[in-house]
Parts: sequence; structure tokens; C-alpha cells
Amino acid sequence: MTVRNHRLFRPDGSAVRFVETKNQGGAFAAPEPTHLIIHYTAGGTMSGAVEWFKNPSSQVSAHLVIDHDGEMTQMVRFDRIAWHAGASSWRGKNGLNKHALGIEIANWGLLERTAEGFVSWTGQRVPNSRVVLARHKNFQPNREHAWEVFDQAQFDAAVAAAKALLGAYSIPVENVLGHDDISPVRKQDPGPAFDMRRFRALLLGRDGDGANVMRVESSTGLNLRRGPGTTFETVKNLPNGTRVRLLGSKGSWSEVMELGPNDADAQDGWVHSNWLVEV
Ligand SMILES: [Zn+2]
Repeated sequence: MTVRNHRLFRPDGSAVRFVETKNQGGAFAAPEPTHLIIHYTAGGTMSGAVEWFKNPSSQVSAHLVIDHDGEMTQMVRFDRIAWHAGASSWRGKNGLNKHALGIEIANWGLLERTAEGFVSWTGQRVPNSRVVLARHKNFQPNREHAWEVFDQAQFDAAVAAAKALLGAYSIPVENVLGHDDISPVRKQDPGPAFDMRRFRALLLGRDGDGANVMRVESSTGLNLRRGPGTTFETVKNLPNGTRVRLLGSKGSWSEVMELGPNDADAQDGWVHSNWLVEV
């Protein structure tokens, strides 16, 4: 996909459907967007979300809404502020709306378990085949909750759209965040059913080739930690020679994802950059 004149276009050159909402503000602070926030709609369909975001009384909107089949609707030009983040902060910035593009993905999100099965907050039944049990990283992290799964088609569409946006506005992958990162007490979206680690790795592009791949060079291995500093807990020791994909950096620390024969077990975290070499 590509961005032209702050609108999104498909690979065949056709424009993504644009339904403008009045729920929008002025220009970004930078003045171009520097961050991208991923959300779930807490609703069933894209059309329901589009109607809600068009409604002036909702006072909310997003740049892009993605349906279960990967279809999408743009509602705010990418050079204008949409109202998706609310009270939020990230690394010294407050009110991320004036910095960030917002993508809403049609998904019920957090579900409730009832005697009849899993239901959304509206009481809509969600079949077991569409439910995953998982812990949220900051919402009641000691217990599992039920979440609606994201469809592969909408995940792929989100990757394609985000790639175009990151390219058009030079947004670094480390500035691709969940609403639950910037409003951790208030918000649970996109939650654990959305594989943010894989999403960010795919945004680095050319998944599977040598892009951003580094190698651990340290005879004693390298500690993979939960954050950028020695005060953060060690997740594991990466043996000498381990290949990692670079996701971002902060000071002399690199955020990486371990690359191994079994992707499902791959861990992500932070390592000191001194012991990483180019492959
Ligand atoms: Zn949200």
C-alpha cells in the first residue's frame, strides 16, 4: 500500500474508502505524525465502528478502521489529528493524539465468561473458536482473561497499512505502540490476542531476509532483560552466536527479538548493544 496526499491507496492504485468524520482536530505537533497506536474497536464490525466515529456525540475517531476480512476505511487524513488515544503518555509526551496516527481493528476485545459461553461487553455471544485465553501485561496480569482472536486477514491488512504509514512519515518501529502502552491503567486494547511483537518485527520489513539481524558476540552470552538497563529482570541468557532482530533502541540498549529455529518460543527484550555485531 502507499500514502499519497495523506490518503491510503491499495497496491492496485485504488484509494481506500474514505468516510470523513468531523471528530478530528488540527495539525500534528511535529507537524507530521511520529507515532502509530493500535486499538481494537470493542465492537463487532468495521461498519459499526465507522458509524460511531461519524457520530459527533461519540467524540472519538481513528485514522483507519480495519474489518475482519481486511477491508478498511480511512476517516481522517493522515496530516490531521484523530481522537483515538484520550488521556495518554509515552516517554515524556502527553496526549498522544497530537503525535500519533490511530488504527482501530474490529474486534470485541475483552470478553466475559457466562454459563452460556463467552460474551462481549454488549452481551453478544462469541463462539469458543474465536476466543483465546491469555494474560494481559498490565490489566490484572496474574490471571487469564478471554479475548476475541484477530483474523489473519485483518492482521495482514494492519501490517500492510502500517508499513505504508511508517514509510510515508518516517515513523520508527519503536514508536508503534498499543493503546495499553500509552494508557496502561485505563485501556486494555489491543491486548494479548494481538501479537505486537510479530507485528513490529514484520514492520521492519523483508521478514526472513537479513534486515536488521544482529548476532550476539560474547563468550559468556548476553542477558536479555525486560527493559533497557541492568535494573530490569533478566529473561534469559542468549548464548554466543544467537541471532536477533533489532526492534528499536534506547541509549546504549537495543530492543531485540530472538531469532531461532522455533519462532513460537522466541523471546523479546532488551540487551546491551556493545555485544551485538552485524551479521
Ligand atoms: Zn483504544
